[in-house]
Amino acid sequence: MSNLIAKLSNVSKHYGEGDLIVKALDGLNLEVHQGDYLAVMGASGSGKSTAMNILGCLDRPSKGTYQLNGNAVEKLNDDELADLRNQELGFVFQQFHLLHDATALENVMLPMLYACIPTHEREKLAAEALDRVGLRERMNNRPNQLSGGQQQRVAIARAIINKPSLLLADEPTGALDSNTTEEVLNLFDELHEQGITLVLVTHEDEVALRAKKKALFKDGRIIEIC
Ligand code: ADP
Ligand code: MG
Repeated sequence: MSNLIAKLSNVSKHYGEGDLIVKALDGLNLEVHQGDYLAVMGASGSGKSTAMNILGCLDRPSKGTYQLNGNAVEKLNDDELADLRNQELGFVFQQFHLLHDATALENVMLPMLYACIPTHEREKLAAEALDRVGLRERMNNRPNQLSGGQQQRVAIARAIINKPSLLLADEPTGALDSNTTEEVLNLFDELHEQGITLVLVTHEDEVALRAKKKALFKDGRIIEIC
């Protein structure tokens, strides 16, 4: 049995109340083990992003429990949660979410700000991460000087800089054309081969084919996993 990294048990997330209640998640159970490469699929509105935000400690369940590397997430205060997120998680978004006034290198250095690492060391690590995603020669460019695929690769470098136990990506190729999608997916494959644990939301069959496991969401829970 491989090491358990993340476990959601009977997780619900409700918005609003009474007749207007929206059950974004409704009794979700999910385990992620070390080395997993999991594709999360399902129709729009089925709860995929809500589940990713909870896995990523960007949001908290209304009910249920979340164990992340032995930590009971629901018992942590907001500061502790932010620390855990910074240490254990990397998150890649559809719209990249880069700082526009910062260079690629500065964007990748950001998650190390709180880690008490000297600047020259942070620069070295960020340059290595950019090298890993094939962008060493672009490290002084700002996002508007980079293509969509290159911006997403900067975002991936930023997400892996603190060596997270879990890399989460919510429709990471949703804003990219097909060539660039291929390029970014190849990068995820490489990271997986290097041992990174990956959970990726996708609409595209091509993306799901690369994953080793698939979870199908419907109405706020998983109805099939294979
Ligand atoms: P998916 O990512 O699968 O498209 P989401 O997790 O974004 O689905 O949303 C699941 C359901 O929860 C949808 O019905 C959505 O409208 C609702 N929802 C998500 N976030 C909020 C919110 N902040 N307030 C109210 N309803 C929300
Ligand atoms: Mg979504």
